[in-house]
Amino acid sequence: MSGRATVLVTGGAGYIGAHAVLALAGAGYRTVVLDDLSTGRRAAVPDGIPFIQGNAGDPDLLADVLERHAIGTVMHFAGSIVVPESVDKPLAYYRNNTLNSHALIEACVRAGVSRFVFSSTAAVYGVPERLPVSEDSPTLPINPYGRSKLMTEWMLRDTAAAHGLRFMALRYFNVAGADPQGRAGQCSPVATHLIKIAGEAAVGKRSEVLLFGDDYPTHDGTCVRDYVHVCDLADAHVAAVRHLENGGESGILNCGYGHGYSVREVLDAVERVAGHPLPVRIAPRRAGDPPELVASRERITDTLNWQPQHDDLDTIVRTALAWERRLADGG
Ligand code: UDP
Repeated sequence: MSGRATVLVTGGAGYIGAHAVLALAGAGYRTVVLDDLSTGRRAAVPDGIPFIQGNAGDPDLLADVLERHAIGTVMHFAGSIVVPESVDKPLAYYRNNTLNSHALIEACVRAGVSRFVFSSTAAVYGVPERLPVSEDSPTLPINPYGRSKLMTEWMLRDTAAAHGLRFMALRYFNVAGADPQGRAGQCSPVATHLIKIAGEAAVGKRSEVLLFGDDYPTHDGTCVRDYVHVCDLADAHVAAVRHLENGGESGILNCGYGHGYSVREVLDAVERVAGHPLPVRIAPRRAGDPPELVASRERITDTLNWQPQHDDLDTIVRTALAWERRLADGG
């Protein structure tokens, strides 16, 4: 632990943030979690990790936390992530994602924090023209969520050019799965993501899974996505911190495996792992879903030497289901 500056993890009580805290601790980093618990859970933060309940856009709180804990790196997960909600409440998304990030970046510049790892999204690409999507593809987000994240990337890029701050923005593809040891997983009260929803159906928490569209121009007519295990994603964040600590340049990296599965293939995997069929009903297409979204992973491999350990659909589904059972059992 010694010799390494502490990492502040905003949103560390949320799904991905909690896995990042575990990965950082496993790599010997000291961490501090800042979370307003609007969607996160206090219980997701392991014992012994300092926890501050507060908003990641509160300048006075940030100034205090950055100094008091001698923060050297900020890992910024706190934010809102539900695409349809961002369409209904754009200003809430621009506040929570863009304005709060502005306050956090500004606090870092003021406090001399020189490393920043940002939780971005493949939603910044919108509907890509070419697959797999490289980081140099045009960024044309089609919803406020994607735009609110893209603006933060721009702020980071411009701040890095003007001040002594270096950053890594990781553009997540479809994050799923849970810690294989059962220490963390996804707890959204209102699930919207496919594997979470299918997992809830598999344990009897919902009566059916709606399959949004089976008439897409893909091999089986359903949408294809690049599902990445949350622990591999968390490891990519640790590698990003190391990269910056070693003097590496700022950058923007896709975080996906570089291959995709259709909605049907995912549902087949859930049935296979659960050992019973799922109640699936074909429904109309969901607005704003691109037919296919798969990452080019060359840049993250070259830059971070990222070596995923869970690149297997059944593993992703198995860990997600184990977590869902744990929640169903009240754990
Ligand atoms: N999907 C579905 N039923 C659901 C949830 C999602 O058919 O209940 C489909 C969705 O239309 C998309 C894919 O699963 O094609 C992945 O959607 P998800 O919301 O998990 O992630 P996104 O790709 O939108 O970020």
